[in-house]
Amino acid sequence: MNLPAATPAISPDWDKIRADFPLLERQVNGKPLVYFDSANTGQKPASVIEAVDGFYRRHNANVSRAVHTLGSEATEAYEESRRKLARFLNVGADELVLCSGTTFAINLVAYSWALPKLEAGDTILVSRMEHHANIVPWQLVAQRTGATIKVAEIREDGTLDLDALYRAMTPDVKLLAVAHVSNVLGTVNPVREICREARRRGIVSVVDGSQAAPHRKVDVQSIGCDFYAITGHKMCGPTGTGALWAKKEHLQAMPPFIGGGEMIKEVSFDGTVFNDPPHKFEAGTPNIAGFIGLGAAVDYLETLGMAHVEARETELLAHLTEELDKVEGLRIFGHAPEKAAVVSFLVEGAHAHDLATLLDLEGVAVRSGQHCAHPLLQFYGVAATLRASLAFYNTHEEIERFAAALQKARKLLA
Ligand code: PMP
Repeated sequence: MNLPAATPAISPDWDKIRADFPLLERQVNGKPLVYFDSANTGQKPASVIEAVDGFYRRHNANVSRAVHTLGSEATEAYEESRRKLARFLNVGADELVLCSGTTFAINLVAYSWALPKLEAGDTILVSRMEHHANIVPWQLVAQRTGATIKVAEIREDGTLDLDALYRAMTPDVKLLAVAHVSNVLGTVNPVREICREARRRGIVSVVDGSQAAPHRKVDVQSIGCDFYAITGHKMCGPTGTGALWAKKEHLQAMPPFIGGGEMIKEVSFDGTVFNDPPHKFEAGTPNIAGFIGLGAAVDYLETLGMAHVEARETELLAHLTEELDKVEGLRIFGHAPEKAAVVSFLVEGAHAHDLATLLDLEGVAVRSGQHCAHPLLQFYGVAATLRASLAFYNTHEEIERFAAALQKARKLLA
């Protein structure tokens, strides 16, 4: 049985947890590192690094090809990671396509589901707060099919305007693309309700879970979407790992996106019989070591308990917001009542990149720029923001160091 792991009763000792992350011991520019860029990519615990290292040292072989011992060990470990990830998301392992990340996952839906199905007169509904990975593939599909893109707008506080969204779900809308959690605003969208409304109108829903799965318990079945995409490197796993969950009926009906080895049962010049899903969508040699690492990352997160992770990050977010509110001339973008630990902001009179550079001199890593979300920044009429994004391994002391560094940088630029 693929039962989800129960949350451990006791909250972890967060100081001890931090020590699991070797990189966080680093000094940057002579100062202890304050890593506030986890929405960009997360840091890795030693258990993940060791799982990748251990695979290459002891088990390295290709998957699903060789009958020798190493080959079966590699295949078993790879498939075990798929089972772990499936359990983590509360879905069936045979519905989970392993791929390089959310970008690939959404493109898979675009090319295998949308491209053959959509035509002129159809509409793809996309929220204003999407990452480019959940916009550009739909534009490419629209260009090739003649379908139209419609934007679901947000409110000033960074929440989706749900009434407008439901009104926009007209009969021509065939697909809805929406983020579970915004990578810029931190807004947590009510995806369960949104997908229910889409389903009632026969609209297929694609949820970008990149910023949700690392920070809260995600039960994909209960969301009721058609597709859910995740990326492994934001959830303590290696880069180049991720997955697309899709309803079985879609996986069976969808043609393959990429052809090659592994995704076939039989090939002749008269025709090819494809493998069953999810393998039908996994042509070529995958990032085997990466997925072994992602399996270890899932183990790690489950040991912490996602409810504890969420509670810890909510507490850190409250502290961070309190500190930012003290900074003169600082504007925060996104005040959703339900918000993940991501804060985008600007300080009057200071360019985002200049501030980020001065913060780096103090050992503080934050992102500055457009965060792969140009349409969202266009809504706010700004060219760039700074973004501080936290994870459970951050500390209250780091928030204070960050706030002091920000005050110092602001004075230098004033
Ligand atoms: N969607 C969101 C909301 C993201 O934050 C990101 C990563 N910044 C992506 C999609 C793309 O993920 P990846 O580059 O790992 O495919």
